[in-house]
Amino acid sequence: MRTRFAPSPTGPLHLGHAYSALRAHDLAKDAGGTFLLRIEDIDQGRSRKEWEALIHEDLCWLGLSWQTPVLRQSERWDAYRAALDSLWQRGLLYVCTCNRRDVLSAASAPNEGEPLVGPDGIVYPGTCRSKPRAITALPDGVALRLNMSLALKESGIERSGRWDAAPENGKFRAFQETGSGPNGETGIIHSAFGHLLDNIGDVVLARRDFGTSYHLSVVVDDAFQGITHVVRGEDLFDATLIHVLLQHLLSFETPTYMHHRLVRDETGNRLAKRHDSMAISTYREAGATPDDIRGLVGL
Ligand code: GLU
Repeated sequence: MRTRFAPSPTGPLHLGHAYSALRAHDLAKDAGGTFLLRIEDIDQGRSRKEWEALIHEDLCWLGLSWQTPVLRQSERWDAYRAALDSLWQRGLLYVCTCNRRDVLSAASAPNEGEPLVGPDGIVYPGTCRSKPRAITALPDGVALRLNMSLALKESGIERSGRWDAAPENGKFRAFQETGSGPNGETGIIHSAFGHLLDNIGDVVLARRDFGTSYHLSVVVDDAFQGITHVVRGEDLFDATLIHVLLQHLLSFETPTYMHHRLVRDETGNRLAKRHDSMAISTYREAGATPDDIRGLVGL
């Protein structure tokens, strides 16, 4: 068993991160497996060395240990490019020149109804999808979107089928311990692939400013690091559907996914990086112990 915690160094870790890291760590340790830390710093504009140092400090203080060297996504551009190239050569990506405003106005056109919102914001209405494309080398410095309809066909996944969670082929097992999947499921999730087409759409796999995306990098790196179990918050459930599709397209093994409940603040809202009051370092400085943190997050 190999699990990982993969924070982005764009702010202090808070109680929600502590919960996720502890769950992934404990799962591996209890099974005699390996726990990894991965620094997801593709967004070089927002990532800071100081936050990365604090991540190490907080996790050590919590009593976690991980295999070294730690993988940093900012050192993995070639691997992301290779994956994009494979998708590009098969005609599954297209260049998108729309900015946020273009997407919003196209999605809000009078005959479009209310714009649909997926995990990355408004579901892209497809403005650039049919622009003619010369089959050339993978372009640089442009946004690339996945043609979801083609991708679903190419992946061999039936649009109307359901995620095959059958343990016998071990292809895709996603667990959600509380809350619900897109159709209210708990436990092993079966989810129609049509959800990807209708509610998620043509996601950006390479951003213009940094040449890759969270979805692409996380899939490439989970495969590269041989992650067998991904432990993550249930807010990422839709993202997991995208990741499983990408694994099919790139011929990667699909890990088992476990989506855990979210740690919420006193008003019931999910924590964000701006919740500095919930930062692990704030508790640490106030004299809390690692066991206090486990208690606070319900472990
Ligand atoms: N960098 C992502 C985050 O901090 C990783 C989550 C995941 O892929 O499990 O949300």
